[in-house]
Amino acid sequence: MTADSSAPIVIVGAGMAGLACATWLHRAGRAVRVLDAADAVGGRVRTDATPDGFRLDRGFQVLLTDYPEARRMFDYGALSLRAFRSGAVIRLPNGTETTLQNPLQRPLAALSALASPIGGLADKLRILRLVLHVQQHTPAELLARPGTDTLGFLRRYGWSESMIDNFFRPFFGGVFLDRGLGTASNFFEFVFQQFVRGEAAVPALGMQQLPEQLAARLPAGTIQLNTAVAALEGPYVRLASGETLATAAVALAVDGPALARLLPGAGAPSAGSRLTTNTYFVAEGPSPGRGDGLLRLNAARGPWPTT
Ligand SMILES: Cc1cc2nc3c(=O)[nH]c(=O)nc-3n(C[C@H](O)[C@H](O)[C@H](O)COP(=O)(O)OP(=O)(O)OC[C@H]3O[C@@H](n4cnc5c(N)ncnc54)[C@H](O)[C@@H]3O)c2cc1C
Repeated sequence: MTADSSAPIVIVGAGMAGLACATWLHRAGRAVRVLDAADAVGGRVRTDATPDGFRLDRGFQVLLTDYPEARRMFDYGALSLRAFRSGAVIRLPNGTETTLQNPLQRPLAALSALASPIGGLADKLRILRLVLHVQQHTPAELLARPGTDTLGFLRRYGWSESMIDNFFRPFFGGVFLDRGLGTASNFFEFVFQQFVRGEAAVPALGMQQLPEQLAARLPAGTIQLNTAVAALEGPYVRLASGETLATAAVALAVDGPALARLLPGAGAPSAGSRLTTNTYFVAEGPSPGRGDGLLRLNAARGPWPTT
């Protein structure tokens, strides 16, 4: 069976990867059709609106504004981005709070953090060293570096266990959904660079604005929701409904477990899904964050006091 060059390129998955793929192919003048089993675009990047007007992202997510692909893809102005300040307030196991800030964006505040009880002076100077190291490389160079696991990388870099447990585990364990820090170290270096260089921001109307913006630029009718692909059969895709579609080519932009089902033997990670729970609270009084725009990290893993 040969591919039908008069048929569209079919992209399975309307998450960020599928929509980015469709955007580039459309810009290149190719006919595309995007199929997704879900009832909206975005995949893992979804926002639910509650009847009383709150917009809740599915999982705490931020857009790092320096991501090279994001800068090519999005119209940031139309997203009304709201940025966090670069740094974090960390609640330590002994109940005290300390603030770590990005030394490039807030040099004076970062200097004052030298005296904070998280890690020793050498730990803080290592942060500065890592900041300078990642600044000397392009994102592609960092991603191409040989990778070990992040925890091994941090220990070899010389950080104390206290610094790892009180800063890296809650911060990057939260970013990777991996408190064990087994994530590849070259990816850690890349993400660290992105935090240093850009802002961590959320669109005013929630993260789903990102996929919605890409979807809105595609011709009407390109994206077909509630359409699960059951199998790939040569140049055809067979839908769960039983219908078969001819394709010029197929791009799979699905999650790992779905990839393993559609392309068994392709080396997709078989298990490996990480689950996380996101809980939202409404504060009736002043914001517990005191309006400082800094993220809170709970290194203690117990409840955060409200006073
Ligand atoms: C809680 C959480 C927090 C995160 N925080 C951040 C963050 O702060 N910053 C950041 O950059 N990234 C973050 N990420 C990661 C980011 O969300 C993902 O990397 C990204 O959304 C993956 O996009 P994707 O298009 O590759 O896959 P997905 O979003 O998983 O999209 C795959 C799509 O394929 C569809 N699909 C699957 N199987 C089929 C089938 N058989 N037929 C049809 N359709 C199918 C699915 O319905 C889905 O829409 C976070 C992820 C989570 C879960």
